[in-house]
Amino acid sequence: MPEVSDLSSGRGHELAANLARVRDRVDAACRAAGRSPADVQLLPVTKFFPATDVELLIAAGVREFGESREPEAGTKATEVRESTGLSDLRFHMIGQLQRNKAKTVARWADRVHSVDSGKLAQALDRAVGTAREDGARGGALEILIQIGLDDDEAKGRGGVPADELPALADTILESDNLELCGLMVIPPLGGSPEQWLDQTARIHQGFVVQYPSATELSAGMSDDLEIAVKYGSTCVRVGTAIMGSRPVISP
Ligand SMILES: *Cc1c(COP(=O)(O)O)cnc(C)c1O
Repeated sequence: MPEVSDLSSGRGHELAANLARVRDRVDAACRAAGRSPADVQLLPVTKFFPATDVELLIAAGVREFGESREPEAGTKATEVRESTGLSDLRFHMIGQLQRNKAKTVARWADRVHSVDSGKLAQALDRAVGTAREDGARGGALEILIQIGLDDDEAKGRGGVPADELPALADTILESDNLELCGLMVIPPLGGSPEQWLDQTARIHQGFVVQYPSATELSAGMSDDLEIAVKYGSTCVRVGTAIMGSRPVISP
């Protein structure tokens, strides 16, 4: 790897220190909840940050990354896979996804956290099928369904109401190229995180009874990861606390 992947100073040191601090937070939250730290994945979210930062995190031992914007995500994933030559890197699409991006996402993503409609699931299934035929990917695409909590839809954050989860889960189970792995949530901005995550935990518990192999729950970010771990998260998606503040989006 290039010399930029030096963890002893500068940006590399900063990222490694932030990563260690966040892992400590996750581990402490697990202990407080009586859970094993091995059961909660810490997924660094690298959207807006350059491939060189991803390489520094790889030097610090990270192998899985969350991204949310196309084409930034696909370009970066390809670049880092080539620059490192590592075959065990995994990239997660965690952000809202339009159907017309299914084709490109199918080429770089190992897991999508944000599936919220049957039409999107079908578009991904077809796109992954094509990518497999072309040799652009090997395995199925892992899928999490994004839960929509009460009055969530009005706020435009996407997500599927609890009573519509089984229909979408069945669509995914019946597909050729998708693997149903669990649920994901982005709590609404208003109200208390504790209340939203409690509601999420109850939806998740019911879901796992019905779909025992789809046990993942992607929940928790920089500010609420402790609460999410308390309510059963198996994957916290952490951007700011590891990477620093994201640049402001220009239109
Ligand atoms: C950016 C992003 C995150 C990370 O959020 P932070 O508050 O910066 O930790 C988590 N989940 C999703 C879906 C995101 O888009």
